[in-house]
Amino acid sequence: MPELVPIPLPLLLRRAFLEYRREGKIFDLPQNKFFRGIPGLDLSVDFHGHRASTPLGPAAGPHGQLAQNIVLSWLGGSRIIELKTIQILDELQIPRPCIDAANVGYNVEWSQELSLDQSLREYVGAAMFLEILKASRLLGENVPSVPGLTVFDMSVGYNLEGIRSPRVRDWIQSMKNAGAVVDELRTGLPAEYRDLPFPTSISDTVSLSTFHGCPAGEIEGIVAYLLTEMGCHVCIKMNPTLLGRAETEYLLHDVLGYHEIQLSPEAFEKDLEFDEALDLIPRLQRLAQANGRSLSVKFSNTLVVKNHKQVLAGDLMYMSGPPLHVLALNLVQKFREGLKTSIPMSFSGGLDAHNIAQTLALNLIPVTTCTDLLRPGGYARLIRYLENLGAKMTELGVTTIPDYVSRFAGQEAALVAEATANPRYRWEHNKGVPRKIGTKLWLYDCINCDKCIPVCPNDANFAYETAAEFILYDNFELLPDRIRRVPGGVLRLVKSHQLANYADACNECGNCDVFCPETGGPFTEKPRFFGSLKSYRKHAGKNGFYVDWDLEGQPTIYGTIDGEAYVLTLNHVTGVGHFETKDAEVAMRLSDNEALSWKARNGTDTQASMPVSQYLKLKLLLESIGNPRHVHFANVAGLQEVAIGNEESAL
Ligand code: SF4
Ligand code: SF4
Repeated sequence: MPELVPIPLPLLLRRAFLEYRREGKIFDLPQNKFFRGIPGLDLSVDFHGHRASTPLGPAAGPHGQLAQNIVLSWLGGSRIIELKTIQILDELQIPRPCIDAANVGYNVEWSQELSLDQSLREYVGAAMFLEILKASRLLGENVPSVPGLTVFDMSVGYNLEGIRSPRVRDWIQSMKNAGAVVDELRTGLPAEYRDLPFPTSISDTVSLSTFHGCPAGEIEGIVAYLLTEMGCHVCIKMNPTLLGRAETEYLLHDVLGYHEIQLSPEAFEKDLEFDEALDLIPRLQRLAQANGRSLSVKFSNTLVVKNHKQVLAGDLMYMSGPPLHVLALNLVQKFREGLKTSIPMSFSGGLDAHNIAQTLALNLIPVTTCTDLLRPGGYARLIRYLENLGAKMTELGVTTIPDYVSRFAGQEAALVAEATANPRYRWEHNKGVPRKIGTKLWLYDCINCDKCIPVCPNDANFAYETAAEFILYDNFELLPDRIRRVPGGVLRLVKSHQLANYADACNECGNCDVFCPETGGPFTEKPRFFGSLKSYRKHAGKNGFYVDWDLEGQPTIYGTIDGEAYVLTLNHVTGVGHFETKDAEVAMRLSDNEALSWKARNGTDTQASMPVSQYLKLKLLLESIGNPRHVHFANVAGLQEVAIGNEESAL
């Protein structure tokens, strides 16, 4: 089971600052994809009484889980960040792969994978990161003009018992008052940022995810609890099943043409019904008002459908993307027509750069996105959302979101009808899958399309440079009294641009495999670097590497290739490498890869072989990964010890 290992805040900061200065990127997002506001336009909105500088954000999911994901979402222009759903069961085994965004968008990744404690630290750490980013003026002297007001929105699931449990209650309280965690994280920060007045109230809003089939009474109980006992503002995420089975089937099959997608009848039988929801909302609104809190609703959650593709495990999966866009808009319309009172509504469902302006025109705030960010470009797609919205506002001659929305008053039904009839949401337009070219990935070389880097929500894949090499090598037989040279082979690296994976940030969701034109999956075939010897050893036997950068300048790489574990330490002063296999320890001359001497290990007999190709792979990886010109998670710990001149003063 792959396990996410959060990256310590000081390392995240170090990487971001060095990477930005050296390469003009942060977590692989190029600076021309950072949102820096649109001159003359005020995109700010109100969400549960909090001001946010844009109406856009990631929906609770893979883009709001780790601190680096939250920062990436923010850099792209997200200002209402719906954090990944937490719940009492925080040691879940999520099946892998868990995301299939080849065209429509399906997942079985329905919950947070980190422990409650880890999630808390990721969310608090992300909030502190954003404060440091602003205080440092890293993004430029005009940074105060970058609209930076940001709202973190908790997402909590899934039933009353779990949400009322002491652990979840404490977790919510800690998000509302994170002073202790802030102080703890503060101690690890560089001196100039340690005393910043970090906000300690990370969030006081909750978007509620209830399990499919959650009865109305239970939903009411949870919301009442969150409003009254936890003192939170609440948004109820509605399931698309509220549309009713007949209407959903009609839209999905007859209008949009997704005949292969089959609904789960049980989901419609058990889920909250439309009339129940209409009954529930006004009552809860009054309760919210009486407690000085606010209530909103969100359309919509994913749609549970039968697993017809068998890419993901299980009988059911959760559908998102273009068809959900139409379902969710129709549900908004139906709900508005049925509800006697008005209530703030937010949106999720197939949002992208092309439909944000029309969706926001329906007064849906915030508009949140997920599936679209899993496609090539990843977080870099976000800025287009806001640019397109800005262009539409400029075209209409409005400068604020309320003015923009008011231009469409009375046109809601027409807007929904237009989207429903739009061919871009139909099966014919979304049936294609990413092309595979029939070649298989291996440790080195590929077609270098680099798609695997931005499609990863966690920025776990990265590029590094190495010398394109054609190395002829001899093998060695290690005999009791001598070393005998025997025929070897050739290690051939055609490309200088190579790809690798940072395993601690990879949960093997499978998304990069979907978009990689070659087969095998980058996260499986490319070298996987772990952040600690502990996590490397935990995955013993599988392709993996760990580099101990060593303060004395003698770095060591631990590596498992083809199921065998090796260790190589480079001593650049003596020019000799110390290479360990399971049978032998060999002194290797680094300049020409000559075996100089050896001794047997672990009581093995006095004869062994020396796998020179594996030694060469380790040596090449260590030298190229350590190259400070490129900054990534696999080398940033080592770069702390590298003289970086003025760059050091930034952190
Ligand atoms: S591993 Fe696949 S997706 Fe990544 S650069 Fe190579 S070919 Fe492209
Ligand atoms: S590297 Fe690939 S499999 Fe791993 S988390 Fe990223 S997208 Fe998912």
